Amino acid sequence: MLNGKTALVTGSTSGIGLGMANQLAAQGANVILNGFGDVDAPKAEVLAAGKAHGIRVGYHGADMSKPAEIEAMMAYATAEFGGVDILVNNAGIQHVANVEDFPVEKWDAIIAINLSSAFHTMRLAVPAMRAKNWGRIINVASAHGLVASAGKSAYVAAKHGLVGLTKSVALETATTGVTVNAICPGWVLTPLVQKQIEAKAEREGVSVEDAQRGLLGEKQPSLQFVTPAQLGDLAVFLCSSAGDNVRGVAWNMDGGWLAQ
Ligand code: NAD
Repeated sequence: MLNGKTALVTGSTSGIGLGMANQLAAQGANVILNGFGDVDAPKAEVLAAGKAHGIRVGYHGADMSKPAEIEAMMAYATAEFGGVDILVNNAGIQHVANVEDFPVEKWDAIIAINLSSAFHTMRLAVPAMRAKNWGRIINVASAHGLVASAGKSAYVAAKHGLVGLTKSVALETATTGVTVNAICPGWVLTPLVQKQIEAKAEREGVSVEDAQRGLLGEKQPSLQFVTPAQLGDLAVFLCSSAGDNVRGVAWNMDGGWLAQ
């Protein structure tokens, strides 16, 4: 379905981004990976997912908190892949503290990586998408893009901002073949959440398994984690022709979190 398209997924060396990359590759899209840490294993995984289609997989290590590096990544995509057809803004970090204790540099980093990076990739990707009259932009927000939790002021502000940014750019492109939407996951068991589970276990003096059950029980009625593959399949749906008139939505996949 996506043969000949190129998907750039930020923060795709791990977790949700890697799940998105795998599912898009399985539909035949070439993939440009981005993120920190080991690159060889995720690259091999995505190549295998798209093997039947003979896809290409590239990588650019731009730090998403740095606009100049984002510009270099977009230039790499144009030079090596002829541009970006599917842009998934997924890179994100978390820090948990009450506002009066929130480190200023953590606030700045969360706003830069979780929000401003999507502004930069979009402003650079939209002109070529408009010219082709086809494009898909998928911003990975969060249930925290729609409701708040204590201790997550920067994350909640960034994710609410990302949902607003999504709506605005969706309106700007509404008469074109470019769609812009946000996906809002509930809890997904990735390294980002594993850290929060371990911190909860230590704080409450309970086992990691009990902390995991407690974390789900507080917010996610299904008591099951959403998986990166399920989120990847939602991204595939948004890239299909059925997604042509899905515009400016903040689509939650959250085990019932937002229904409460
Ligand atoms: P993760 O920690 O597994 O992956 C984060 C990815 O971003 C990694 O590839 C990492 O290398 C990359 N990254 C971090 N800082 C970066 C930077 N400065 N520049 C480039 N890449 C960077 O986390 P995850 O849980 O897969 O989170 C992915 C996205 O999903 C984030 O935006 C997160 O807010 C969002 N999200 C996660 C959950 C969850 O429960 N895990 C829920 C809702 C939303």
